[in-house]
Amino acid sequence: MYPAQFDYHTPGTVQEALAMLGQYNDDAKLLAGGHSLLPAMKLRLSQPKHLIDLRKIPGLSGVREDGGVLAIGAMTTHYAVETSPAVKSKCALLGQVAGQIGDPMVRNMGTIGGSLAHADPAADYPAAIIALGAEMVAEGPKGKRTIKADDFFLGLLTTAIGPDEVMTEVRVPVLGPKIGAAYMKFPHPASRFAVVGVAAVLTIDAGKIAKASIGITGAGTKAVRAKGVEAAITGKAGDAASIQAAAERAPEGVDVQADLQGSEEYKSHLLKVFAKRAMEAAVASVK
Ligand SMILES: Cc1cc2nc3c(=O)[nH]c(=O)nc-3n(C[C@H](O)[C@H](O)[C@H](O)COP(=O)(O)OP(=O)(O)OC[C@H]3O[C@@H](n4cnc5c(N)ncnc54)[C@H](O)[C@@H]3O)c2cc1C
Repeated sequence: MYPAQFDYHTPGTVQEALAMLGQYNDDAKLLAGGHSLLPAMKLRLSQPKHLIDLRKIPGLSGVREDGGVLAIGAMTTHYAVETSPAVKSKCALLGQVAGQIGDPMVRNMGTIGGSLAHADPAADYPAAIIALGAEMVAEGPKGKRTIKADDFFLGLLTTAIGPDEVMTEVRVPVLGPKIGAAYMKFPHPASRFAVVGVAAVLTIDAGKIAKASIGITGAGTKAVRAKGVEAAITGKAGDAASIQAAAERAPEGVDVQADLQGSEEYKSHLLKVFAKRAMEAAVASVK
């Protein structure tokens, strides 16, 4: 299948890309790894007249430490996140998530910025980005702004990034020594997208869970925070019984959708199972 005809542009700076977005408006689309946009174009679900390729812009890829934060360029591929020594030592959860995305070709082409901007309801990163309390940096005609993960995912394939903005960076807090974190997903057998996925970040102090941050993807139209689980596990010992009881609340606040992958009941059940597994693995990972 072939996409509809388009003009292809290769800006050399973010400012040039922004000028092109301003010039072509609704007729333009940014291109990152192309692993969500090009399939949509081939199916004619998206027919941009102008494709603005971000790959020639220097400085949008790579991971650097910036104080207590990992600053990850929006064009950093899933493979580069998975194999980054800084990610491995400072926020292993994110590498774990990247390593479970799709197949090697998808991981070598797809980018963290493209995945987050696309906001596929079954994408893996969003659960982790919420659980980690990350921030996304967007640049637009009015300058730079930072968007918190909790305010980022607005709905199906919709984020807080404006049509005149480019996401340039994802800022992820470094995980401290008393923090355990894990991501568990039930992958679709063909695509590896998350039928459901749960990321858990737990701070353990004096044998109790002092803070819990849980992100959920896959089950609904957008990734969300599992507030019921967070409330139920905070202050508990993180033993099998308290984890099981908290995991039962995983579907709370999630607009669980029945689809080809399963009924609402089945996906709600999966959420409980994978919330339990993610919390167990997070507790076990605390050194
Ligand atoms: C076979 C297959 C299996 C997959 N399996 C999984 C999986 O298991 N888990 C998973 O999470 N994902 C999966 N994916 C999706 C994959 O991770 C994509 O790479 C990702 O969703 C989009 O990233 P991209 O860099 O390819 O973005 P593109 O496809 O280039 O762009 C996607 C959208 O984001 C916009 N965009 C891109 N970059 C920016 C930016 N910097 N600023 C603002 N807007 C931007 C584009 O305009 C476009 O609308 C799979 C894809 C395929 C083809």
